[in-house]
Amino acid sequence: MAVPRLAVDRPFTYLLKEEHEAGTGSLVSVPFHGRTVKGWVLGPARTIPEGRLLGVRKVHSRVRFFDEGMLRLLLWMSERYIAPLATCIERSYPPRVVSEESLLESPATAPRSRRGPPAIEPKASERGWRRQQAAPRRPRLPDSFGRVLARYGGQQLLEPGTTTWLRPLPDEEQTVCVEAVAACLATGKRAVVLVPEVEPLPATARAVLEAFGDRAVAFLGGDARQRYRTWLHIRDGRFDAVVGTRPAVFAPLEDLGLIWISREVHPGHREDRSPYYNIREVAMARTRLEEAACLLASLVPSVETAIEAEAGAIRTARPARRLERENAPLVETVAPEAEDRSARLTALLRRARSAALIVSRRGYGVARVCRSCGDPAACAVCRGPVIIERGQAICRVCGSAGVCANCGSDSFGVERGGIERVAEWAARTAPGPVLVESSIGQQPSPLMPGVVVGMAAAVKDVGPLRLDLVGILDADRALLRPGVHAGEQALATWMEAAAWAGPRSEEGGRVLVHTRRHGHPAIQALVRWEPLPFLLAEARARAEAGFVPGHSVFRVAGSTALGESLPAAGAASVLATAVEGGTLCLVTVPPKDLARFRKEILRLAGQGDVTRVEAEPQL
Ligand SMILES: [Zn+2]
Ligand SMILES: [Zn+2]
Repeated sequence: MAVPRLAVDRPFTYLLKEEHEAGTGSLVSVPFHGRTVKGWVLGPARTIPEGRLLGVRKVHSRVRFFDEGMLRLLLWMSERYIAPLATCIERSYPPRVVSEESLLESPATAPRSRRGPPAIEPKASERGWRRQQAAPRRPRLPDSFGRVLARYGGQQLLEPGTTTWLRPLPDEEQTVCVEAVAACLATGKRAVVLVPEVEPLPATARAVLEAFGDRAVAFLGGDARQRYRTWLHIRDGRFDAVVGTRPAVFAPLEDLGLIWISREVHPGHREDRSPYYNIREVAMARTRLEEAACLLASLVPSVETAIEAEAGAIRTARPARRLERENAPLVETVAPEAEDRSARLTALLRRARSAALIVSRRGYGVARVCRSCGDPAACAVCRGPVIIERGQAICRVCGSAGVCANCGSDSFGVERGGIERVAEWAARTAPGPVLVESSIGQQPSPLMPGVVVGMAAAVKDVGPLRLDLVGILDADRALLRPGVHAGEQALATWMEAAAWAGPRSEEGGRVLVHTRRHGHPAIQALVRWEPLPFLLAEARARAEAGFVPGHSVFRVAGSTALGESLPAAGAASVLATAVEGGTLCLVTVPPKDLARFRKEILRLAGQGDVTRVEAEPQL
């Protein structure tokens, strides 16, 4: 039932007539509690309930939105994230644009795939969305392909049912992806490449699309019509490789051989709406169910990947340590002075033709004191800190115009620091032009004369670069940011940016890190170009704080009864807060108790005691 509520999250049985020509994955309308409600056909009923069986009223489309294999994945998601199956199904394909289906429905105009039937299900086909003998397919790639992949284990990476953390050499990130996809296609299977962002098109995505021409498709960005049309075409079997963002993890490809996840730690890989899935987990589940391989490619893996790799639960593919070291950038550390500057930075910047300066603070500075009444500066609406950005005082928390909470003045004494201030200063120091917040990839020339000042979001997958200088200007502040994932994300950002200085063996660029904590494991990880010890330390720290890596985290809202019922169902309560008329609970659940916990949540939802469940909340 297309009713996204846990309380009614179970299958219902209806009579589906043969002349409807519908089956698993069909979108239908059925009578439900005196109304007509949309729903999807999940398959034939195992048992027929007693009493009169109501009939399906309408079949909306001849498109089947999932097959049995995809349904298994969606059921897994619904269990894992304690989300209604309806919500999981709705996230698995783009919103329908009905006219796109009617275009396909005329046999004269129906585009046919090279090897499959048209997108619309042929009569009485009950076996998934498409079943057709695969014609032999050969990649159109030169023989030299595979040489880079061999460094990482070659064909072994594609072993069905395996997950591997692959740590590319910075210059090989795109090549090794293209070669892995080529190796997958060479076996007659298909591949999905997942990237965290759309703009600018990540270099990995571009490399795959260019290498495979019309055998590959970009399933990212675009308007609703374009997205739906692309989805229909993928389902139609037109493409062997799909490159996309989160939703592409559900790409309706048959004969899946590989899912590649680029930059695994990137926050863009997590869905912010119910069912709040992380594509790492979904991709691993899908490849397990469909006997494909999952490759997590990143300079810095997630803490979860690091501990599973350490335990041998997932494989590791890295080039020889010697190669990693030779290809690592040269990193030096120095203590920062005022406004995140240092004499060393000035000296390096003066002769840098190209540089990227990474800062973790927005704006021009932080308001410290009201110039009219002398009170400490704080937002009049929420008491949050006030910053100066583009010449305006604004609250960093709620975004209100920054005025003094005491007297209403908007004139503050400011402590300078932040990307705008750094850019202002760099413009007086560096020989070339200075840009703020731009991503390096948008530069017209890969040599990028000039300086870019940006925050973590400016660090994108732009392919190999050779900058004279990469500055991480406030590393200590970045490490202090709140959030369970702050440490791993900071290190990932630093390593990806640091790689822009090129390998130390070339003696070209260098990386300067401002820190007063030279011995901090994250700083040491960057200097030594080895992330694992830091990530394993993070895992221990998380476990001590109550968040054991590998255990699920849920934020559950509901009645005051929750405080007692959730721990009874196997959850370790981390935090329970009384909110208006109820309770908000933060709980962790070990994998072995997840099924029992879910059952209890469904029961509580049924009696109105649970109103909302959020899996893996951003903490
Ligand atoms: Zn505020
Ligand atoms: Zn004031």
